[in-house]
Amino acid sequence: MRMLILGRQGAGKGTQAGRLAELAAVPHISTGDMLRAAVREGTPLGQRAKQIMDAGDLVPDEVMVGIVDDRLHEPDAARGWILDGFPRTVGQAEALAEITAATPLDVVLELVVPNDVVIERISIRRTCDGCGTVYSADDAAIADGTCPKCGGTPRQRDDDRPEAVARRLAVYESDTAPLVDHYAGLGLLEAIDGLGTTDEVFDRVLAVIDDRTSRRI
Ligand code: AMP
Repeated sequence: MRMLILGRQGAGKGTQAGRLAELAAVPHISTGDMLRAAVREGTPLGQRAKQIMDAGDLVPDEVMVGIVDDRLHEPDAARGWILDGFPRTVGQAEALAEITAATPLDVVLELVVPNDVVIERISIRRTCDGCGTVYSADDAAIADGTCPKCGGTPRQRDDDRPEAVARRLAVYESDTAPLVDHYAGLGLLEAIDGLGTTDEVFDRVLAVIDDRTSRRI
């Protein structure tokens, strides 16, 4: 399975991609997670990316394409992968098509969630500063301020603060939303209603993938 998930910030891409990757036993490749790990580790990439991310802007295409090219050539990606957060621009999509020319994409999922709902979801999102696990602020599991998985501290991401969120959503509309038409034109797009519980959305994701797979057989 080689697929990618599009959708606004807070649409549930990370959650759905993670579940699907586990089920399909392929890596979940989130460029946002990779950049945040680089920031935590203080690598040259992390130092360069931090300011751009905090402002809600996009890291330049050539940097992102290099990172994704390397990652897709790691051994665990040979059987397939789920990309989350990449591509973010038509330029990145064109680069991805070149990188994967021999093993093209099977499907592109778009999680559709309106702006007002994602703004609300992001305002209560808390991300562990140790392992990156995402929680809701009212989740009883983090009531003591500690991540039950790693002992780290769930916090609001700098780029989940309202000013950065407004900028990120504007960048989504201008730079990333055109990918919906791009992939629809290639016959790869499946739009999925992203409203409801995580389980409800996951059931829709599985139904779409089953349907596509049976149409191919
Ligand atoms: P995300 O967690 O996917 O929302 O990504 C967080 C931030 O990382 C974004 O707002 C961008 O600053 C940066 N980023 C992640 N993926 C990309 C990408 N494919 N291209 C450019 N910047 C990215």
